[in-house]
Amino acid sequence: MLQIKDISKQYKTGDFVQRALDDVSLTLRDNEFVAILGPSGSGKTTLLNIIGGLDRYDQGDLVINGISTKQYKDRDWDSYRNHTVGFVFQSYNLIPHQSVLSNVELALTISGVSRVDRRRRATEALNKVGLGEHINKKPNQLSGGQMQRVAIARALVNDPRIVLADEPTGALDSETSVQIMDLLREVAKDRLVVMVTHNPELAYEYANRIVELKDGVIRSDSRPVEREETGDETAAMHRRMGKASMSFATSVALSFNNLRSKKARTILTSFAGSIGIIGIALILSVSTGVNRYITDIQKETLTSYPIEINEQTFDMNKILDTAQATADSKEHAKPRNGIYPDDSSIKGAASLTNGIASNNLSPFKQYLDKPGNEVRAHVGDVGIQYSYAPKFSVFTHDAKGTLVDVDGVKVGGSSVTTESGASTLAGLDSSSNDIGHFQSLQISKLTGKADNNKAPAAFAEIMPGRHPDKQPISSVITDNYQVVKGHWPKSSDQVVLVLDKSNQIPLAQIYELGLLPSADYNDMMNRLQSGEKVKTNTDRIDYAKAMDQPLTLLPAADQYVKDGDGRYRYVGDDATEVGKLMDSPNAMKLHVVGVIRANEDAKTTPLTPGIGYTRMLTDELIAHADSSQIVASQKADRTRNILNGMTFAPSDDSTKAANAKAYVASLSVSQQASMAKNIMTQTPGGMGAAGPSQPADVTAQRNSAAGAAGNPAAAANPQNAASGMGEQQTADAFNRYLATAPENVLVSIYNQYVSTGTYDGNLADFGVIGRDAPSSIKIYADSFEAKNAIEDAIRKYNDGAKKKDRIVYTDYAGLMMNSVTTIINVITYVLSAFVGVSLVVSSIMIGIITYISVLERTKEIGILRAMGASKRNVSTVFNAETGIIGLCAGLIGIAVTLLLIVPGNAVMHHFMGTNRVNAMLPVSGAIILIVLSVVLTLIGGLIPSRKAARQDPATALRTE
Ligand code: ADP
Ligand code: MG
Repeated sequence: MLQIKDISKQYKTGDFVQRALDDVSLTLRDNEFVAILGPSGSGKTTLLNIIGGLDRYDQGDLVINGISTKQYKDRDWDSYRNHTVGFVFQSYNLIPHQSVLSNVELALTISGVSRVDRRRRATEALNKVGLGEHINKKPNQLSGGQMQRVAIARALVNDPRIVLADEPTGALDSETSVQIMDLLREVAKDRLVVMVTHNPELAYEYANRIVELKDGVIRSDSRPVEREETGDETAAMHRRMGKASMSFATSVALSFNNLRSKKARTILTSFAGSIGIIGIALILSVSTGVNRYITDIQKETLTSYPIEINEQTFDMNKILDTAQATADSKEHAKPRNGIYPDDSSIKGAASLTNGIASNNLSPFKQYLDKPGNEVRAHVGDVGIQYSYAPKFSVFTHDAKGTLVDVDGVKVGGSSVTTESGASTLAGLDSSSNDIGHFQSLQISKLTGKADNNKAPAAFAEIMPGRHPDKQPISSVITDNYQVVKGHWPKSSDQVVLVLDKSNQIPLAQIYELGLLPSADYNDMMNRLQSGEKVKTNTDRIDYAKAMDQPLTLLPAADQYVKDGDGRYRYVGDDATEVGKLMDSPNAMKLHVVGVIRANEDAKTTPLTPGIGYTRMLTDELIAHADSSQIVASQKADRTRNILNGMTFAPSDDSTKAANAKAYVASLSVSQQASMAKNIMTQTPGGMGAAGPSQPADVTAQRNSAAGAAGNPAAAANPQNAASGMGEQQTADAFNRYLATAPENVLVSIYNQYVSTGTYDGNLADFGVIGRDAPSSIKIYADSFEAKNAIEDAIRKYNDGAKKKDRIVYTDYAGLMMNSVTTIINVITYVLSAFVGVSLVVSSIMIGIITYISVLERTKEIGILRAMGASKRNVSTVFNAETGIIGLCAGLIGIAVTLLLIVPGNAVMHHFMGTNRVNAMLPVSGAIILIVLSVVLTLIGGLIPSRKAARQDPATALRTE
């Protein structure tokens, strides 16, 4: 029983109020066929919509089976429409893009009936209306009558108690109308059918009750219900009428079906939506490519030019600054009215000397090693490398059996040892005859300022791996070099031969390593000096030959022998002694276990051609020096130099004089002779050794010393000394003179020739290296940003450090790359701005597209609501749909972008002239963009879909 009690409904449009229903009361039986007649605009549709729960009444009450609907909530109405009511409309209201079957299934889909059930019941309903063969057609492939039958099947599929038909034959010809009416009469057999029509003939023929409506008021009722028939009504209460709500999965499935049934439209919409995504993805790809390139370049640059802090350093920045300042001051030309001194060369020289700085690396290392310091936070992949300069020599025999010092320069033509009976080592140095040689030799030998003990130039340590990894070889090396033969060193005695990219190493090194006879080299050099034609030997050498070459390493500490007087004597330049030492247990046989070459595309080549050894060897040599006997002896007496027996750095003249005598006495005969000769050449006016570049005061001192020392040589007949006189005689004369020489002469000899050395200097010569005192520190950053941060940290360190502990270094990367960083920043900002703009544009675009697609489907929303879909269902369906479109748009966008990148890169390579910039879409970026597309589309669709859901179903259905 359905009771309409005093229902009024009015529509307000502006000031105009239309009373569509005016206090209408009508009771409908559970099983009757009611026809509502009336002219157009009399309120028939309004009444039907109120009965069906599509529209709300303003006043009165609708009582359904004794239950008042006054307090019905939305979901009660939804459930009522879904389970109790079936609608048939004049204009069929089928969803055009869904098959007949899906249209009929809709009500079941909404109530969450399973797919199989749905299909069965829908097919049954379609069979009942005689359309069993048309279930897979689209509505527009059917005639009007057939469509209306589909609508009836849809109304019936949920087996509702009430079927409401609004002018079901209004659009049909009379013949078809009859068929539909027959069908409705059939339907009305076991339920309530309320049919609106303005065709009285059909009404009177088929209906068993006629209600006439005019101007919103019931004029007549052919079979009104008596008072007794109605029961007492109860207040509205929610009664579960079964599920009337779609699950989320159903919504998605429904929207997916929707989309599938309009493929072309979906693809076009998605494509339109994807354009924004394509834009972003392309810009993202390009910026990723450019950024990678930039990062690569930065990393390469900074790997080649790390922040390098050496014990002794030229502050290039300072020197360049001064040079610039000098150049600037020259520009401010003086007026041309007299003579002006040009001081630029003096200033230049001053800037050079000012530019020399020494760094106290120990406190800096301490700072770096403190956990959590600011520098560490910005250090790149390669990390911080501490280098130590271990002291050792390496010897080998060439093919002819000649003993070769691998560091050829060291013993170059040392005539000093020849005459004292020692055999000369095969030296490779062509510059052995220069005048300064004697002195430099003296200094190096006697002060212990022995460059002597420095590792051979051809030997370089291979950068070890990052500290915590404990890898013997850094990945910087293994990434940029390949092993062409053999393998990387695995232990301290294993070394590799390093070739350049074209498999070459300098010819001199070939000789130094004994791979070619050293005699040939000397011969070649002699020819070169005498201006003769030189033939170089550049024949191929087998890898195997190089790897077989026996190399013997002598640690610095082991190149001294203890003489009878308890002093230690350096014998690293004495072939006989070296020969003996090479057989001693301390000599280390080095094995060339591999040949490596810089890769063709190597980004940095920190190893110069020659021999590469590992940090393991360095460590071993440091440990060896610490435990050596000579170091122990020196440590036992900190005041006396164990090499020459002199007291370290005396301040009184008598000790200095004694030291001078002790020094001369410690020399060999030929050394004494050369010293005597040397002093002679320094007579005033002929200050060869002092050199013109010496600061004035030093030169003056030297001159006086030479003048004083000139006497003995003259006394010993300089003529003879210079030419015919034997070394022995010269030396004797010299000694005789010295025995009675006044103290001031001895002191000046001391000042000029003798240095007592220092305790620390001696230890350093013997190869003692403090772990806390590296010879250089290299800090590798991965980006300029990180590098700048590191430099800031160092600046801060300097601000906080004592003056002598401040760190000076040259920022080569900065000198080269300053402007590049600015350009990089600009590029990055521009690209980011592009991405931002295209993001906004694409969001707006997607929003508009979704909005239009929702507007366009208002009718469909009305149909869904009439079928009992809740507001939430409607918005879910729409959101699912927009979500799917967003996903498609994202996927299409990414796919198109990936396709475009290929020719795009080709074009870019062509115009940029480099293959190194490669636009590429990062996977994370692609995923984010797809998600973004979905989210943006959802947001774009949110407002319209809410609007759609809010729409009054009655109004929605009236929309054409
Ligand atoms: P019928 O179906 O009998 O032709 P309706 O029920 O559709 O009549 O309409 C009844 C009256 O209410 C009409 O005068 C119509 O103009 C008015 N009306 C119906 N719907 C609306 C609406 N959404 N807004 C304003 N007026 C409306
Ligand atoms: Mg109407």
